[in-house]
Amino acid sequence: MSVRRTRVVTLNAALGPLDYRVPDGVEVAPGDVLHVPLGPRQLVGVAWEPERLPTEEVGDNRLRPFLGKVDIPPLPAPLRRLCEWTADYYLSPLASVLRMVLPSAAFANPRQLTEYRPTGTRPDRMTPQRTRALEKLEGRQGSVRELARHAGVSDGVIRGLVNALALEPVAIDADAPFPVPDPDFDPPELRPEQADAAKRLRSSIGQGFQPFLLDGVTGSGKTEVYFEHVAEALRQDRQILVLLPEIALTEPFLTRFTKRFGCEPVAWHSDLRASERRRAWRAIATGEAKVVVGARSSLFLPYAKLGLIVVDEAHETSFKQEEGVQYHARDVAVMRGNFEDIPVLLASATPAIETRHMVDIGRYEEVRLTERHATAELPELRAVDLTQDPPDRQRWLSPSLVRELEKNLEAGEQSLLFLNRRGFAPLTLCRTCGHRFQCPNCTAWMVEHRLMARLACHHCGHVMPPPSECPECGEEDTLVACGPGVERIADEVKALFPDAKTAVVTSDTIWSPARAAEFVHAMEAGEIDIVVGTQLVTKGYHFPDLTLVGVVDADLALQGGDLRAAERSFQQIMQVAGRAGRGEKPGRVLIQTHDPSAPVLEALVAGDGPGFYEAETEARRGAAMPPFGRLAAIIVSAEEEADAVGTAKRLGDKRPNVEGMAIYGPAPAPLAMLRGRNRQRLLVHAERKLDVQAEIRKWLDQVDWPSRVRVTVDVDPYSF
Ligand code: ADP
Ligand code: ZN
Repeated sequence: MSVRRTRVVTLNAALGPLDYRVPDGVEVAPGDVLHVPLGPRQLVGVAWEPERLPTEEVGDNRLRPFLGKVDIPPLPAPLRRLCEWTADYYLSPLASVLRMVLPSAAFANPRQLTEYRPTGTRPDRMTPQRTRALEKLEGRQGSVRELARHAGVSDGVIRGLVNALALEPVAIDADAPFPVPDPDFDPPELRPEQADAAKRLRSSIGQGFQPFLLDGVTGSGKTEVYFEHVAEALRQDRQILVLLPEIALTEPFLTRFTKRFGCEPVAWHSDLRASERRRAWRAIATGEAKVVVGARSSLFLPYAKLGLIVVDEAHETSFKQEEGVQYHARDVAVMRGNFEDIPVLLASATPAIETRHMVDIGRYEEVRLTERHATAELPELRAVDLTQDPPDRQRWLSPSLVRELEKNLEAGEQSLLFLNRRGFAPLTLCRTCGHRFQCPNCTAWMVEHRLMARLACHHCGHVMPPPSECPECGEEDTLVACGPGVERIADEVKALFPDAKTAVVTSDTIWSPARAAEFVHAMEAGEIDIVVGTQLVTKGYHFPDLTLVGVVDADLALQGGDLRAAERSFQQIMQVAGRAGRGEKPGRVLIQTHDPSAPVLEALVAGDGPGFYEAETEARRGAAMPPFGRLAAIIVSAEEEADAVGTAKRLGDKRPNVEGMAIYGPAPAPLAMLRGRNRQRLLVHAERKLDVQAEIRKWLDQVDWPSRVRVTVDVDPYSF
């Protein structure tokens, strides 16, 4: 009798599939998670169908037995197919994809979780924050972080209350069940067009694969409508995944979800503690976590009985992963829907050209909302021509925008100034010798952050203290900040309106759901008059008293001229405009530009979204750009420039000659230095019907890769 064997994919990307002997008396099926030996080490791997992963057979006598099964549910077949597809499509090792399915927390030992609840005792020392926290936390229980989020205070305030005995610890079983959302807890009354949309979506649950685009202006109630989709999946006892682009958006989402369904969904994001992660992972794998909301990484979790995937704000660029497996969560979500045979809903007021195109060719079904809810009207958009209406020297707000801000302050309404640039100034230079501060590791300027009192590289995170003298010529007091970032705009606002309360909102100030909650509370309580923010404030938020939006520099997104510049600029301005006038009072939007005749701005001001989409689609078609053609960027990088350049050249010399496929380069990549590595790029542009991945795979196999050199392929690169 021959030895029983199983093929295993380990979580180590450097290894191919390995075969192991199945010990007597043990049964193994594909998807089982196993402990396997490798030399003196022990690894985790997943049993796989051998016919799907051909590899050289090892003789029976050389097979080692695996060590045992990991005590977690096996990975279901549709998930294994998704992993294979992802690895294939994005030219990544299957192991790297599996690491997203099986994060280390999945195997962590159970630990006690501690939650806290109010004791009814009031501490001797009260502060406004403590008062607010105790008010909000009555009858609540949760981790420090959850309570902080709920009360809109910092973790420190909660810990202070624990020390002051106003909150007491409660031990929680690390595998305690999550509460189950109630689909009929508090449904809203839908307007007729919302009801029609909800009806169509509900009828799709349990009926197989169907991608939807839920398309409607900001504030039209897309969230309310897809909640009905979620509710129906819950009624049919399926799991639901809601993907959000940004961790900062989860808090308002959780609050809204709780109002509609009576309890919080299970959250999955990088801010979770290991024990929380473990609990969530297991509940997802057993099917006990009914609704999961998370960032893109939640897409690869082993849902036991998935019934619906929602991708909210589906146009967001943060769904594109730029490191490791460079996947696009929106596209992988649709593939997962395909393998699981379930509906997938993409919700967006400004869908990507690619998504619109899928509707045009009948692959996705469009469900549309046309009106804003209740009295809310779409805001009026107006361009401010900076050549006619220029700001003062070293100022960035035009007189007309300043006047509108003033009006809003007088009326007691809130305003938002949008500039997609963190920090104080994007460039610092020496007035005497012209020296510019550049990152030592990247082709990028050091950005001055005054709030944190340092210069920082936005690509590698390198920081340095603000210099008092020029390192080049030694002059003192000669450094000047060039150009504005949000902090500088906030300074300008403070100088103009010393009594106004301003807030800067960027990933530097809002880095966790708790901070996002603090911001939301402050806005709702009217503690902020003027917000100055990056794209972080353009999405999701709903502030009824916010009536004025100023786009400080509409030309910024249009610079650089990459494929998506116009599209991105359209989306950003539409989204930020959507923050204005969501309540009873109408909103207005001023767009500052040096070129009001740019087609995208003309379309925005004329309210001609469809016209913009059509022109943009035709331009792409004409140039055979995505979605009409395909792109892939091959990046060859090394610490030594000569290694990168030399290897890229050898790769270039072996370029395949394939009909319908053009290869450009090698040339320095747009970020020629990144984190100390020199980067050379080859760009592949191919016809839609070509199997680009297969061609690239064959091609890369022909080159010997020195270990100092790394090659990565970005399939469907977002910007280039
Ligand atoms: P979108 O997701 O399209 O931007 P939302 O779902 O956030 O729109 O809706 C905008 C606002 O209108 C929210 O405060 C929401 O609660 C409210 N709203 C929308 N539809 C209804 C409805 N049918 N009943 C009550 N409130 C609604
Ligand atoms: Zn850097």
